[in-house]
Amino acid sequence: MKSYRKELWFETKTRRAYINITPQVESCLKESGIKEGFVLVNAMHITASVFINDDESGLLRDFEKFLEKLAPEKPYDQYHHNGFEDNADAHLKRTVMGREVVVAVTNGKLDFGPWEQIFYGEFDGKRKKRVLVKIIGE
Ligand code: ZN
Repeated sequence: MKSYRKELWFETKTRRAYINITPQVESCLKESGIKEGFVLVNAMHITASVFINDDESGLLRDFEKFLEKLAPEKPYDQYHHNGFEDNADAHLKRTVMGREVVVAVTNGKLDFGPWEQIFYGEFDGKRKKRVLVKIIGE
């Protein structure tokens, strides 16, 4: 069995961002040389997510609206967590959108269903943050 590990780095200009990272994960898969197995992709920070959905701009705006309704960023003092920090909403948004995804690797390709794409969801950006890509198989 082979194994491969890589960290992808992001620094968004905005507090929140939704980035399609499928091309980067495909590059990792190619670099790994693994043809059959699994890819795990997880955010390494508790205020960011990795999730799978459709890369459609309307839907990405809907996610933003949905998450702001559930856990609005402001006012900051509505959250117990906010004292030294102002990112309680980001922790909550991350919990809703999830920490990681696992994708099957078949014939050297990500074995997606229709329209599936891997996204990095940033909820407390403007600083360097990481995503882990771990691939195992042969
Ligand atoms: Zn925090």
